[in-house]
Amino acid sequence: MAKKTAKTTKKGTKQAKGPKGKPAVKRAATAARAVKAAKKPVKAAVKAVKKAAAKYVYGFADGKAEGNRTMKDVLGGKGSGLAEMTNAGLPVPPGFTISTAACNLWYAEGRKLPQSIEDEMMAHVRRLEKAAGATFGSTDNPLLVSVRSGAKFSMPGMMDTILNLGLNDAAVEGLKARTQNGRFAYDSYRRFMQMFGNVVLEIPKEKFEHEFEAVKHAHGAKVDTDLGEDGMRETVSRYKRLVQRETGKPFPQDPVQQLTMARDAVFRSWNNERAITYRRIYEIPDHIGTAVNVQLMVFGNTGDRSGTGVGFTRNPATGANEFFGEFLVNAQGEDVVAGIRTPRPITELAEVMPKAYKQLREFTSRLERHYKDIQDFEFTIENEQLYMLQTRSGKRTGYAAVVIATDLVQEGLLTPNEALLLVEPASLSQLLAPMFNPADWKKVPVATKGLPASPGAASGQVVFSAEQAVAWAAEGKKVVLVRKETAPDDIHGMEVAQGVLTATGGMTSHAAVVGRQMGRPSVVGAGALRIDEQAKTFSVAGQTVKEGDYISFDGLTGEVKFGKVATSPSEILQVLAGKMKPAESPIYRRFSTLLGWADQVRTLGIRANADQPDQSELAYAFGARGIGLCRTEHMFFGEGRIEKIQRMILADNEKDRRQALAGLLPLQRGDFYGVFKAMHGEPVTIRTIDPPLHEFLPKREELMVEIAKLEATGGDQKVLAEKRTLLHRVEQLHEFNPMLGHRGVRLGITYPEITEMQARAIFEAACQLAKEGLKVTPEVMIPLVGLVKELRDQKIIVDRVAAEVMKETGVKIQYLVGTMIEVPRGALTADEIASEAQFFSFGTNDLTQMTFGFSRDDIGKFLASYQERKILDRDPFQSIDTVGVGQLVAMAVEKGRKTRPTIKLGVCGEHGGDPSSIHFFHKVGLNYVSCSPYRVPVARLAAAHAALSVKVGD
Ligand code: PEP
Ligand code: MG
Repeated sequence: MAKKTAKTTKKGTKQAKGPKGKPAVKRAATAARAVKAAKKPVKAAVKAVKKAAAKYVYGFADGKAEGNRTMKDVLGGKGSGLAEMTNAGLPVPPGFTISTAACNLWYAEGRKLPQSIEDEMMAHVRRLEKAAGATFGSTDNPLLVSVRSGAKFSMPGMMDTILNLGLNDAAVEGLKARTQNGRFAYDSYRRFMQMFGNVVLEIPKEKFEHEFEAVKHAHGAKVDTDLGEDGMRETVSRYKRLVQRETGKPFPQDPVQQLTMARDAVFRSWNNERAITYRRIYEIPDHIGTAVNVQLMVFGNTGDRSGTGVGFTRNPATGANEFFGEFLVNAQGEDVVAGIRTPRPITELAEVMPKAYKQLREFTSRLERHYKDIQDFEFTIENEQLYMLQTRSGKRTGYAAVVIATDLVQEGLLTPNEALLLVEPASLSQLLAPMFNPADWKKVPVATKGLPASPGAASGQVVFSAEQAVAWAAEGKKVVLVRKETAPDDIHGMEVAQGVLTATGGMTSHAAVVGRQMGRPSVVGAGALRIDEQAKTFSVAGQTVKEGDYISFDGLTGEVKFGKVATSPSEILQVLAGKMKPAESPIYRRFSTLLGWADQVRTLGIRANADQPDQSELAYAFGARGIGLCRTEHMFFGEGRIEKIQRMILADNEKDRRQALAGLLPLQRGDFYGVFKAMHGEPVTIRTIDPPLHEFLPKREELMVEIAKLEATGGDQKVLAEKRTLLHRVEQLHEFNPMLGHRGVRLGITYPEITEMQARAIFEAACQLAKEGLKVTPEVMIPLVGLVKELRDQKIIVDRVAAEVMKETGVKIQYLVGTMIEVPRGALTADEIASEAQFFSFGTNDLTQMTFGFSRDDIGKFLASYQERKILDRDPFQSIDTVGVGQLVAMAVEKGRKTRPTIKLGVCGEHGGDPSSIHFFHKVGLNYVSCSPYRVPVARLAAAHAALSVKVGD
């Protein structure tokens, strides 16, 4: 650790000249490029459409595919995986992929495709018929296909799938003849009608279920498998009548029409509500569209020599190198992931169908070596013949991502730089999430156990619906979502819940997959739970739990307990706090190895926004090498301090104000001393007071109530007089637009004695430490500067006080005076401002506020509507608006460096911890980003990603 620190320190110093020491002109060009890049997505999309225009459908059959793994943009993840597996000689049922470009065109042309693409698709249908030796609608050997969506980024459960397409009244007889199995044929027809009816014809699922239940009841069947061919035929007849009733038309019999309708439904589902929600959460662009995969059906439900399953080449929850997955005998694909039947662990397949299992192991290891990443695969076994239906990089928890990335380097499959790119920066925060304190956890008996689907501790009040979860979470309650099984519609509830607990489903069910991805602790398939969603209760272990009761569960072990259990910090935090030794925590060691690699490659420095010594120590332990923003006003809110600042505000003459400030001086000096010390000589940027003064005073309405009470009760006259004075001052300080009012540098200009006191506290602390033999690098930062003269005015004070303190203490220290660039005029005149400023720190919170004219405190009132109407993709206060605000940043970088080539440039707005914003800051050539201490690991990794992707020409 110590060695690494030294290295980072050295790098940090070097960076003062700018990334890789590029000359200013080159850096300016980089900045300009970055602004252009912000406009790139739309152009890129148009270009991609044009490029792919000549071809919209890509076939794969008999060991040859027209696509490959590099064509995810065009074929989507599933399509490119199918093509790659076909080319690699794996047993993949033949088929074709309709490209994402076709989806975009379908929308552009008013929800239809040009005839030329319809013809192209039909040519592929004919080729597929040839490859499969089957014909659409045939009564001897009908061609049956699956139709699945597949976008570039996998969206589990978000899009709709249709199986057994091609069945009609004639083809079902053909299927019966071919398989000699009437029950199977009619069951397949029933399933197809149900899926098609729901997904394409948009008839509610329950209506189909209702019909099916009626047939089961009439036949005295408890479960589906109790129904024979007669029952299935009857169900088909009932479904036909249902479709006629609901749509006014008969169930479509023409397979080509079925295919066209199914394809269009997949395109349509790109814009269903849950897909949109998913894209919003994961910041997947709306314009990329989905591909459609049409593939020859293979059947896992022809009997006990068939089955279907899904799996991962490693454990996606813990990252352990173990074959992991589930299967069901005599079942179709959707049965496993839908969570309706609890599947069997994949290792049991070795006993049930040893040959297929051996092959599966061999194919999937090959795929993992080929893709150099954990693979998530789907397979079907039809009469002991194994077919691979999908392979893609597996979604994993942040915990597993770190384990897998470090293991793959250890196994020689990846270089450290490649491994870095396997870990999503934001997912690192999952490793810092709380866990149960082992001693407290042990004290509570286990109520039940489920499958440990996504690690982490969850404790909260039980809710039974996503809507209730959202409503209660909005009231600030901690909720856990308990469901029989979760469906994609529950995603908004999962987003706000502490954790998710389900009664059915396996490790690859929706709850498990999505829970892991969100980093939401999840326990699934807790079969002992008896959930009554109507009554809003569940019972287990002889106890009934009502909505609002507390439960707790551990997503790493699957244990569920009644009541509330306190959580404690993550293992990594415990090591950093010195409560655990690194040797005792394998995950800490991996985490630190990975971030060590990140530090080797990143060129951006990482600092933290911290105001207190303990926060600064934590930030240093997380790897921050410097403080990018110390908001001094936060120090005024501590015990016994607010009265002192209030005294200063209430003073109506300079003498009284100076006296009050003298009371604050030792407190500030003490804080600065602590922060400097915690940073071990790394630079510390301290900002002079920023918020409007009324923020330090009680609210006007509260004071009026207090005064009225005192008057009514004849309370203490001295207190009453004080309150009246306070009210008077509050009224004097009232501003119509406080964010644009008397704040920032304007306070320092009107009350120079405040700047004086703060500068004195900074330099006295710094000189004291220097006297003690420690290195200190103070950087005094003036906020909200828009005019160079504002900065000059304050700099004169700071320099004078610095000289005085150095003279008094006899100690000389190096320091810088700079400014925040957070007012648009500051950015526009950055060349002038740089004549005074030795550094700029971009305050992108205010810069966003003032560039958009959106109040940072009120955007919540309209942001959702903006996002719904696609006026804004993302919250510009979370992720930098590269086109507008970013342009100001890039311009100020260029202008600032023109005037002062050595100027130090950083960012301390919230965007400094946001991975995609970090990418932008890297491109425009900032020296460092500064973020909250907990986001420092994320920023280290994001900065490494930025450096690596710029290297490969992104
Ligand atoms: C900013 O405006 O980006 C900033 C860091 O300052 P504050 O959030 O304190 O206004
Ligand atoms: Mg600000």
